[in-house]
Amino acid sequence: MAASRAYLDHNASAPLLPAARAAMLAALEVDANPSSVHADGRSARRMVDGARRDVAALAGGKPEHVVFTSGATEAASMLLSPDWRMGKAPVRMARLIVSAADHPCVLNGGRFAPDAVTRVGVDADGIVDMVALEHELAGHDSAQGLVLVAIHAANNETGVIQPVGDIAALVKANGGVLVVDAVQAAGRIPLDISDGYGDFLILSSHKIGGPKGVGAVVGVSDLMMPVPLVSGGGQEKGFRAGTENVSGIAGFGAAAREALTGLAGVDGIRSMRDAFERVVVELAPDASIFGNRTERLCNTLFFAVPGLKAETAQIAFDLAGVSLSAGSACSSGKVGPSHVLKAMGHGEAAGALRVSIGPDTGEAELKAFEQALRAHLVRRDGRERAA
Ligand code: PLP
Repeated sequence: MAASRAYLDHNASAPLLPAARAAMLAALEVDANPSSVHADGRSARRMVDGARRDVAALAGGKPEHVVFTSGATEAASMLLSPDWRMGKAPVRMARLIVSAADHPCVLNGGRFAPDAVTRVGVDADGIVDMVALEHELAGHDSAQGLVLVAIHAANNETGVIQPVGDIAALVKANGGVLVVDAVQAAGRIPLDISDGYGDFLILSSHKIGGPKGVGAVVGVSDLMMPVPLVSGGGQEKGFRAGTENVSGIAGFGAAAREALTGLAGVDGIRSMRDAFERVVVELAPDASIFGNRTERLCNTLFFAVPGLKAETAQIAFDLAGVSLSAGSACSSGKVGPSHVLKAMGHGEAAGALRVSIGPDTGEAELKAFEQALRAHLVRRDGRERAA
């Protein structure tokens, strides 16, 4: 990352942590395949298993219930399947329920047929409509099969935190299975799958300072598992075949370790986020701050300013050396109206910008953001006067 730039896009990808880089470099020194039984193979296996313990600890789960994947998108595609197995016995998931504000990798329903997917709404604060969820769960005909629910723990755009414990209790009471997309929550709020926080968690390495292209499923158990998405050799107990990405997994493990200890520092990140929010409100008193009436991640600020087009503003910030996102901007540089804001009832709120920070974000980044926003607002006011 260029030191002169202000990087305010941690929810898109957090900078690689020195500990993750060091673990990756160490793993690159090991040539062997972790499935090989010789000493070199065993060295690689130790790295994968060490990371497995660290990722399990971050999720409050057991190492034997971690399945490494190529990222959270693959983890979601693996879990969102109508076909599951309990041992050798097939288990059918007849319906998938997701929330309208989920990340596209969940929203799109994975391997379910589109007509088997139900989307429940969120309220104006972005919280899942519990009444609608209960209605859908209660109305499900269990003779057809089980019901699978997949919901994000915290939203990647607004940072809004879902009441996962309540959702898990509701899903359990109705005999369903709950997948929690904990990608943005990891390292920012405590996760504990052993304590009623869903049946499966989805994690992504690069959102917590690990390398890109690595993720995991952490289950409460592996008694009932989806039919593999990637089949072949018996890696990951047959749940996800293919030679493990040893350096990626080692980096993920190191980042998971830091994410767990980093939980102690969230108040400092929140104070810095609040400072960014104050800048927005001072410079643009007519700004809307999304999700600020409810519990939000410590590091996320999602806002819109009337008359400020997000795409243009993002380019202006970029030219001023500030990296942030317009909308979710998660997919291939594409910026469209946010489906999350739409689900929250904000209609054509296309002009939203997201600032997402990390533990190293400081006064220099705050100043760069303030200057860029001030300059852009002056240009907007000039345009308005000229019009
Ligand atoms: N879920 C959420 C909430 C996300 O924010 C993202 C990425 O932005 C993903 C899933 C997908 O993660 P990955 O990049 O590891 O596929």
